[in-house]
Amino acid sequence: MEGRAAGPDAAGAAAAHASAGGGHARHRHYEGVGHVHSIESCGTVDGPGLRYVLFLQGCLMRCLYCHNRDTWDLKSDRAKDMTVPDVMKQVLAYRHYLKATGGGVTATGGEPLLQYEFVRDWFMACHAHDIHTCLDTNGYALHYDEVLQALLDNTDLVMLDLKQIDPDIHKVLVGIPNTRTLAFAEHLARRGQRTRVRYVVVPGYTDDERSAHLLGRFIAPMKNVDTVEVLPYHELGAHKWALCGDEYRLKGVHPPPKETVAQICRILEGYGKAIIV
Ligand code: SF4
Repeated sequence: MEGRAAGPDAAGAAAAHASAGGGHARHRHYEGVGHVHSIESCGTVDGPGLRYVLFLQGCLMRCLYCHNRDTWDLKSDRAKDMTVPDVMKQVLAYRHYLKATGGGVTATGGEPLLQYEFVRDWFMACHAHDIHTCLDTNGYALHYDEVLQALLDNTDLVMLDLKQIDPDIHKVLVGIPNTRTLAFAEHLARRGQRTRVRYVVVPGYTDDERSAHLLGRFIAPMKNVDTVEVLPYHELGAHKWALCGDEYRLKGVHPPPKETVAQICRILEGYGKAIIV
């Protein structure tokens, strides 16, 4: 979801825009299967250690810098429906490698919360085998119900993307307000849910000191947030926009200078959080 492109062994590679579905504020009807965009069996950047990473289809945000543009539609002919036993068969084949490195599994996307029943069932199955679970999310939770509670009860680490605290800039950068995401962050804090915040430094949108201070002030009192992962913007997913028939609107925006990223890190560190770059 943040900072990286969907996995290489794609169930539906990034070849074209599958138009069925679309961005409506609702979950897919759950029939015991996950709608899987792609799988990465040994990911190294989606949480601690080596990880089996499931990229789930569907996202309701519209980030200008999205590197997984082909995951947006809730339904895609190029995605693959998988049951939890299907997925666990693969996970268990890698279990010893994952565990030996302090790794586990990660649900990402797209936005995994849009398929929260499936992720709940998957994470419960992982916990039955003592496998570490990580939820990589933009925080766009639609329902606070027993499904979400069971999912979070079976999540060892949440990686939460906080894209921009300023509501007006967020709307421009992400296409929708940040109210749901901020409410989710506060929900995690109330639960004491172990959370790593991810922040993408996008030139012109999130690379200024004010934005970093807004983020720092928001998360400073959250004892459940021990770490902030700072991710410099990159252009690696830009080609997928063209494949989906869209114009990439950040054309000409380049990765931020090292000094800018270092300054953002210094500011966030000042709010008492460990920093990963
Ligand atoms: S949250 Fe943004 S970056 Fe992540 S998949 Fe959705 S649109 Fe792309």
